[in-house]
Amino acid sequence: MIILSINAGSSSLKFTGFDMPSEKVLISGVFERIGIDGSFYTIKLNGEKIKKEVELKSHEDAVRILTEELVNYNIVKDLSEIKGVGHRVVHGGDKYADSIVIDKNVTDTIRELFHLAPLHNPANLMGIEAFQEYIPEATAVAVFDTGFPQSMPEENYLYAVPYEWYEKYGVRRYAFHGISHQYITEYMQKFLGKENVNLITCHLGNGSTIYSIKDGKCFDTSLSFSTNSGLVMGTRSGDIDPFVVPYVMKESGMSMEEVLNTLNKKSGLLGVSGVSSDSRDIEDGIKEGNERCILAQKLFVNRIVGYIAKLCCPLKKVDAICFAGGIGENSIMTRKQIIEGLSSLGVELDEEANNVRGEFKLITKEGSKIPCYIVPTDEEVMIARDTYKLID
Ligand code: AMP
Repeated sequence: MIILSINAGSSSLKFTGFDMPSEKVLISGVFERIGIDGSFYTIKLNGEKIKKEVELKSHEDAVRILTEELVNYNIVKDLSEIKGVGHRVVHGGDKYADSIVIDKNVTDTIRELFHLAPLHNPANLMGIEAFQEYIPEATAVAVFDTGFPQSMPEENYLYAVPYEWYEKYGVRRYAFHGISHQYITEYMQKFLGKENVNLITCHLGNGSTIYSIKDGKCFDTSLSFSTNSGLVMGTRSGDIDPFVVPYVMKESGMSMEEVLNTLNKKSGLLGVSGVSSDSRDIEDGIKEGNERCILAQKLFVNRIVGYIAKLCCPLKKVDAICFAGGIGENSIMTRKQIIEGLSSLGVELDEEANNVRGEFKLITKEGSKIPCYIVPTDEEVMIARDTYKLID
């Protein structure tokens, strides 16, 4: 059975076609710069990467072209062979803990939550609507990034603000990247051969998040109300005192929108280094002795170590600390610095084992109090699995 796994962003649409239940990837790719000059798409199949430049006015254009290419490249003879389309949806509020077949109630809820995820939910919905038009017979499934962390206990997700803010306005800690953390958890459950795993899962990429997993369920996270919370990210500040915002507005004359935009797009590794949001550029800068790159990396690692330490405590016993995401899977230097920062927890790096990129591996010494692993994540297959489960 063929299932498509879709991740629609504001100007991009990523897709992977799976044969299920074998989970074999048949085709994958991304449409980029949708609605912007210079749009193009790339397709990967049979180990080849094909790039085509084409005008993409909307997500609908991207989906139309994708459906044509699926036939052109013989992935399907007829679109009716695609039985399911799974969509990553960033914000499900506290309404959805599990993935769900999309009907009007679901699309209405995604729309109602636009104000909580203004950059993500509108794009996710555009993707859903375009596929409903071109492949209407396929079962459409919403897989929520906020789903897995719904198991957090009240004391972890509530803020100490007037309780009505939560009841009336939905002000609480949500947490994102849930699909990735769930994948890592399920992978480790299989690897360790038990359901009730206690883990610290670190998804470190352009966006970075850490979860604590207690008895196989999300217990707490580094995240908060918005996608700008928690760790230092590529361009996002992570945690700051909310009183910084009105203070900077007053001192600089910037509007609230300008300050928030700066916190989202011009902060993090980019803001501190003044060089780049990309951790590879930061590493290059460090090698050249660039002081601000060194400082940006110190801030990045410092927040990660702090959150891991905080999240470890309530778990009592931690079965493993896991690293995933572009940085977590590939940056030998960052993993080394984090693990060295955790030495007071009795964690001991195995330098030789750590000298790898992008493969599942134990990277701590045998005597380490908590073993650390690289666990390459796979959000696409997680979306395909949930979609497959929900097809009659
Ligand atoms: P993601 O958002 O998960 O795609 O991760 C993107 C981040 O991963 C960027 O900051 C990249 O610089 C980083 N990254 C990817 N490959 C490497 C690598 N080989 N070494 C260090 N960082 C990397």
